[in-house]
Amino acid sequence: MSALPYVSVVVPVYNEQENLEPLTRELTEVLAGVDRPYEIIFVDDGSTDASPQKIEELQQLNACIRLLRFKKNCGQTSAFDAGFKAARGEVVITMDADLQNDPHDIPAMLPFIGQYDLVCGWRHKRNDNFVRRVSSRIANGIRNKLSGEDIQDVGCSLKVFRREYAQRLKLFTGMHRFFPTLVKFEGGRVAEVKVNHRPRKFGTPKYGISNRIMRSFLDLLAVCWMKKRYLAYIIEEQK
Ligand code: UDP
Ligand code: MG
Repeated sequence: MSALPYVSVVVPVYNEQENLEPLTRELTEVLAGVDRPYEIIFVDDGSTDASPQKIEELQQLNACIRLLRFKKNCGQTSAFDAGFKAARGEVVITMDADLQNDPHDIPAMLPFIGQYDLVCGWRHKRNDNFVRRVSSRIANGIRNKLSGEDIQDVGCSLKVFRREYAQRLKLFTGMHRFFPTLVKFEGGRVAEVKVNHRPRKFGTPKYGISNRIMRSFLDLLAVCWMKKRYLAYIIEEQK
């Protein structure tokens, strides 16, 4: 394993056994082209299938692969948080394990990190079913309206962070849907870049309409409260 990676890719994994080998193959090809030292941190969120064993097999072939394994399923925000804390690269990339995000978008996103602290993927052509596409559009609209944001697609996991911003966030369950707002709280600059989105080929989606809408609405109220109460003082003088 390289002593100091430049890029840390954080991938939450919950029962994705069929996706891990093709994802790693594609991702490592792209990262080889980026030509900077990297690490891939798979965070196994309490999978009950063979995902952890698959990751261990992949580790035998590539020393840049790391595994953090949760005792039980704790949710995607916890997995991101653990990955952020473990990350050593200057740049942290997050993505899903299910091949819906396309690693080939990474090289076009990375250069924005000079000017921005978070670069968010925007799945402008969603490859999900009609109900999901519509519900996501409505959710993004409501979220933007209530939280005063103008983010097109907050739900895309493909994101590139300057590591210090990823590590500075105090996360709570569900808060991975509000990364752009949370980074702005910290004074970070946020950009959106159009990315590819592919259908899920293997495994099953972990979220349905019912477990997403109500929870994320309650989370939105919390974020609106935080935005109102965020400490934003400026010390004008100190003697
Ligand atoms: N995931 C996770 N913990 C969970 C639910 C999901 O780590 O409790 C992971 C999952 O394995 C995938 C990513 O989070 O890598 C997004 O999940 P999914 O693809 O089911 O979500 P969707 O595509 O519906 O947004
Ligand atoms: Mg998915």
